Amino acid sequence: MNTRRKWLAPFGMWIVFEIVAVTLWLTKDNLFYLLNFSYIGTSITVGLLLFQFNYKHARRIVQLLVGLYMLIYLGLICQENMQIEGFWYYLFTGVFEAATIHYAVAKIFGPLLFGRGWCGYACWTAMVLDFLPYKKPQAARKKIGFIRYITFSFSLFFVVLLFLNHVENMEKIMFIAFIVGNILYYIVGIILAFLFKDNRAFCKYICPVTIFLKPMSYFSVVRVKCDKEKCISCGKCKKVCPMNVDIIDNSRKRKNGTECILCMECVRTCPRKAL
Ligand code: SF4
Ligand code: SF4
Ligand code: SF4
Repeated sequence: MNTRRKWLAPFGMWIVFEIVAVTLWLTKDNLFYLLNFSYIGTSITVGLLLFQFNYKHARRIVQLLVGLYMLIYLGLICQENMQIEGFWYYLFTGVFEAATIHYAVAKIFGPLLFGRGWCGYACWTAMVLDFLPYKKPQAARKKIGFIRYITFSFSLFFVVLLFLNHVENMEKIMFIAFIVGNILYYIVGIILAFLFKDNRAFCKYICPVTIFLKPMSYFSVVRVKCDKEKCISCGKCKKVCPMNVDIIDNSRKRKNGTECILCMECVRTCPRKAL
């Protein structure tokens, strides 16, 4: 990668987040959005810069900076439910705040630009799962991805039922749902990781958010591509990929292409710098 391109990605990402931060600050007349998106954008930029200097824990640092901020500050202290049920809740109340903005930026429209960067650099569920021992999946992929449709539907029906029954104290219920949901995600995610010897099993089979992430990331501008002239088909990239992506196929239809979390393990591993 030449020097100009080295600086382009971090700086470009920072600009994108600043545009979002300033736009939301001015349109919503709320300083929180400026601080929130500036913090997230700067954290990601720091990570990308560390990556450019080949610091091997760059991604994990961003994941902790953003994941802990969202889980502890936004989730537990500010009591904003950023889980999928929180998204439905704010969507049905017609409020373009908190979870709806978060979903629009990170999980629905953002992936058109940066794919599943959320999953690689910010998600607080994966932040914990990535500490487990199976960074490289040690078993073949299972055909149980249909479970994500069940969890997705469950989250939707749960919130619809609350509205249909005119339940009071919805904000409080959403906060409890956030805590219970996260505990469940962690328990199920850790059990599956050990069961399938794959840290990212939860992401592959259970996570309801992938219903948004996968189709949108199909069109992502930012993608890892293979320079066929340099590639010697050694297969090392596929072995380290936590998401089983067939990265040497450059087409958008490549196997598990919508699973790429842009972790760059393949790029760091390639002996020919072909990715
Ligand atoms: S797939 Fe779900 S759990 Fe996994 S990193 Fe993405 S949002 Fe988080
Ligand atoms: S690691 Fe590099 S050289 Fe080996 S198959 Fe992958 S892209 Fe090709
Ligand atoms: S190893 Fe490469 S192909 Fe696999 S998820 Fe990470 S960036 Fe994507």
